Amino acid sequence: MALALLEALNLHVRYGGISAVKGISFAVEENEIVCLIGANGAGKTSTLKALARMIPSSGEIHYRTERIEAVPSHDLIGRGLALVPEGRGIFARLTVAENLAMGAYHRRDATGIADDFERVFALLPRLKERKAQVAGTLSGGEQQMLAIGRALMGRPKLLLLDEPSMGLAPLMVEKVFEVIRAVAAEGMTILLVEQNARLALEVCSRGYVMESGLITLADSSAALLADSRVRAAYLGE
Ligand code: ATP
Repeated sequence: MALALLEALNLHVRYGGISAVKGISFAVEENEIVCLIGANGAGKTSTLKALARMIPSSGEIHYRTERIEAVPSHDLIGRGLALVPEGRGIFARLTVAENLAMGAYHRRDATGIADDFERVFALLPRLKERKAQVAGTLSGGEQQMLAIGRALMGRPKLLLLDEPSMGLAPLMVEKVFEVIRAVAAEGMTILLVEQNARLALEVCSRGYVMESGLITLADSSAALLADSRVRAAYLGE
């Protein structure tokens, strides 16, 4: 087995007396697209936030060659770990181009940044057409694309995507997933959190199922798509 790019061991997240993530372990290898699926409140967002060090947790988090539990979230961006949060977190009053520039704020390589603008615009032509538009006036799907584009401007090695389909019309969900496929095809490593289990499993090679803070199933996407428990609970069958 290749060395994992990211590995969580016995990860716990607690909010006061509530235990949201109850000692889960999982790994993502370089160039893999892995999903974390599960119902509302299963602990998926808490897991991603803990990995990006936006909330406290206990247990071990290994990223590349180091332990990152004590690394502040802003330092992780410079080390190539980028979270696209649920709700997207774009700057509504800034333009599309300004939002993208914010994704590269920690970089000093002007030529590389200019190249990445072109790369992101090639991947997301809708953003290129709207680069001078104020981000708050974009459609929900366009905002999701902007959030992904902004993360790509940091040249991440690992992209954590939280519910990219949330609140989008079916056609827009398709478009956002096309973008995810295109980013994956470039060799990006992605950990995708999704409630839309079918879409997630179709784009990922492996998946973990989370229920009430625990990982209850871990398998290849093909096996999960065929699993009667997954079909009954998450695929509406
Ligand atoms: P969703 O798909 O609805 O976002 P999720 O699987 O991502 O669900 P989390 O958002 O991680 O789940 O929530 C897990 C549990 O932790 C839930 O019971 C939730 O109410 C609780 N929780 C999340 N954030 C907080 C918080 N800031 N304070 C207290 N409890 C929280």
